[in-house]
Amino acid sequence: MIDQPTIDRILDAANIVDVVSEFVTLRRRGVNYVGLCPFHTDKSPSFYVSPAKNICKCFACGEGGTSVHFIMKHEQVNYFDALRFLAKKYHIDIQERELTDKEKQIQNDRESMLIVNSWAQSYFTTQLYEHVEGKSIGLRYFSERGFREDIIRKFQLGYSLDQRDALYKEAIKKGYKKEYLEKTGLIVSYENGNVNDRFRGRVIFPVHGLSGKVVAFGGRTLKKDDKTAKYVNSPESPVYHKSNELYGIFFAKQAIVKADKCFLVEGYTDVISMHQAGIENVVASSGTALTQQQIRLIHRFTNQVTVLYDGDAAGIKAALRGIDLILEEGMNVKVVLLPDGEDPDSFARKNNATGFTEFIKENETDFIRFKTRLLLDEAGSDPIKRSSLISDIIKTVAIIPDNIARSVYIRECSTMMEIEERVLLNEVNKIRLKEGERQTAPPSPVIQNPVENIPTDILPGHTVSPDDTVTEKPKRSPFEPYELTLLKYIVKYGSKDLYKKKDPVTEEEVILQYVAEYVKTELEQDDLTLFTPLYKQMLEECVSHCREEGFTSQRYFLAHPDPLVSRLAAHLISEKYQLSKYHSKFRELDKEEDMLKQLLVKELYAFKNAYIQHQIKDIQNKIKQAQNENDPDKIMELMIQLSQLDKIKRVLSKELGERIIIN
Ligand code: ATP
Ligand code: MN
Repeated sequence: MIDQPTIDRILDAANIVDVVSEFVTLRRRGVNYVGLCPFHTDKSPSFYVSPAKNICKCFACGEGGTSVHFIMKHEQVNYFDALRFLAKKYHIDIQERELTDKEKQIQNDRESMLIVNSWAQSYFTTQLYEHVEGKSIGLRYFSERGFREDIIRKFQLGYSLDQRDALYKEAIKKGYKKEYLEKTGLIVSYENGNVNDRFRGRVIFPVHGLSGKVVAFGGRTLKKDDKTAKYVNSPESPVYHKSNELYGIFFAKQAIVKADKCFLVEGYTDVISMHQAGIENVVASSGTALTQQQIRLIHRFTNQVTVLYDGDAAGIKAALRGIDLILEEGMNVKVVLLPDGEDPDSFARKNNATGFTEFIKENETDFIRFKTRLLLDEAGSDPIKRSSLISDIIKTVAIIPDNIARSVYIRECSTMMEIEERVLLNEVNKIRLKEGERQTAPPSPVIQNPVENIPTDILPGHTVSPDDTVTEKPKRSPFEPYELTLLKYIVKYGSKDLYKKKDPVTEEEVILQYVAEYVKTELEQDDLTLFTPLYKQMLEECVSHCREEGFTSQRYFLAHPDPLVSRLAAHLISEKYQLSKYHSKFRELDKEEDMLKQLLVKELYAFKNAYIQHQIKDIQNKIKQAQNENDPDKIMELMIQLSQLDKIKRVLSKELGERIIIN
């Protein structure tokens, strides 16, 4: 467990810009930073990071919060693991006790699998350096391949002994569970009870996720026979979705941002050799066709991808297909064809960084130009082949989202293929029209209503219990939008003094009422309260703390031990626009604080008014019912109630008018 002072310290230390930019490329916009949202397909930057408030928020999909929430969502970890992640980053000590057996057991699958993987990685590395077999076979292989020691260490390469179950035995001895060894695919168990190490007799390439955790392994055999597959990889598992991962991304992300460009290669050895040659902005899709998720992962860091191909033409055509996906993401794609017979791995070994970079500079070709030329060469003068090539190129051009880029390509292709530009344009537009019909409109980034803009899973009506099952939905209050608006003021300004006066004798300032106290008393005056239990509890907490020395509501709620509360607080603080129509005049946020009194009066009125209207409607319905039932006594009684409510309504509006004039 982590105590509150430590949580506070972590939150104070965690700079949101710092935390987010480890995963998202941010650019300055005014006082904020913006980038592509990592939580949905974002084509124009909707993800805002506010250094002043130390929170982030996507104005399209609504995700965001403090640094802790960002890490929770991004790394798919729980609240405390997110805190641990940040504590590590900012070198804050957390004193934690050993987990008990019971706790070990309840740790969820994902975490256990990552722990097993991390252990296995260090086990493989130890074998590589310390076991005779590891040294004489594994390490020797790497050094014969030309891998330097620092690079072997950096990529945490390893060796798996050529024994049936060496890893399995060791893992069990260390207390790791068979279940997780199976789930991660480190072992394969058979019905007859046999257990085999998956990677036995192979050198090991750990696959690191974006945050550096080992999510999978690749193992290369060192035997020369044809029967053994050259590479064996971890199976799909809760911690490893092959289509979401890119080999090398953890080691490349900073270099990608710096170079504003990412090289895409085929596999493990290409990535490693290029690093060794000094080119670090490189990732691999590891043997499979590139997926949209992988492309998006790259897109978070740059808009420019350069694909490196081996010189042989056969593979190139197959790879062309994956590239359309990159264009579709609106990214720029270039292609480098390596000299015949070379792949990035062999080429990097023969050239240093300068030589490699020079070669790339001289041979980098725009993808569409490359594809057109390649296909033209292939088609020669065969008219049927030519026409199928033309429609192929047109399809690719039609994918490009940017209008200007598209028209440049149309012009260029028209020259290369000797076809009138007008004809090409026509065809491209036909395809785009057809596609457009299928696509749905993007989400609108303008948010009016706080309830709509907060991901529903954090509103109390959708509480998710710790074991991830959705609990029965409590009834949502019909006044939730009003309550949330009031709550926003509580979170943002609850500890601010609202009314002060000077003591005539001592000349000292006496604080009569803090914002939280004011809201509470104002509601109580009319026998009202916030109806949603969580909101009510937050108000009460703020009232009970607001007179404490050094208490600030914003900080308190953001660091709240209940993650539901802290996430909600973060969303309320990041709200760009407010609900009520009264607010349309006061959109600028810095004015909000100056107008606090007026705004509070109005919001309280709005809430009370909505409540009264609701009651009035209710009574009116009851009157109708009583009329149907022909119950004059009841009608009379209800009419009296109704007139009382009408009176309250009038008083409310009158009060509102007066208060606004006074203030
Ligand atoms: P060789 O020494 O024979 O060149 P290699 O280990 O370099 O073998 P290649 O057959 O050249 O492997 O494969 C090209 C690239 O693709 C390498 O970076 C390799 O790591 C990677 N690769 C090959 N097969 C797979 C696979 N099944 N899964 C993941 N990556 C693979
Ligand atoms: Mn190779």
